[in-house]
Amino acid sequence: MEIPSFRRTGVISVEELRSLGLLPPEERLRKGPVAILECPEQIPCNICVDACPSGAIRMDKITDIPRVDWDKCVGCGTCVAMCPGLAAFVVDLSKPNRAYVTVPHEFLPVPREGEEVWLLSRDGRRVGRGRVVKVWERNRTWVVTVEVPRELAMEVRAVWVER
Ligand code: SF4
Ligand code: SF4
Repeated sequence: MEIPSFRRTGVISVEELRSLGLLPPEERLRKGPVAILECPEQIPCNICVDACPSGAIRMDKITDIPRVDWDKCVGCGTCVAMCPGLAAFVVDLSKPNRAYVTVPHEFLPVPREGEEVWLLSRDGRRVGRGRVVKVWERNRTWVVTVEVPRELAMEVRAVWVER
């Protein structure tokens, strides 16, 4: 059996996320913010299940891949703050010509609302610039929502502040 590339590289691809059923349908993404859990490793963790206030995350056993019920998820971002693996994100494609991506941030400095930041891909490459629209903190993790070009909605998974 072919080894998934994320096991070799440590970075999952959009195609792998899609083939594992971890990406919401386009129609749901266009309705408003929704969680994407990029957590295919089947590690013994279920923190997101209990953290979700909407009961939208399902795991039958602790080593399952966590699955989001896209209809129950309200895009609140609690899972983004609580996931110890920094593997939870929220994506919103409800506005024309742009997208919003919510990412965990555990570096200093903390981005400020309105600030322009670097947009980083899953493998840490700078892929563009975006404007921070919301910043909040929980459990000592900052949760940052950034406006990004629509075509980068499935690429941007971190931000970098240069100050
Ligand atoms: S974004 Fe909120 S509602 Fe959606 S899965 Fe995460 S914690 Fe649950
Ligand atoms: S909290 Fe994070 S690492 Fe743990 S199961 Fe959920 S998505 Fe995976």
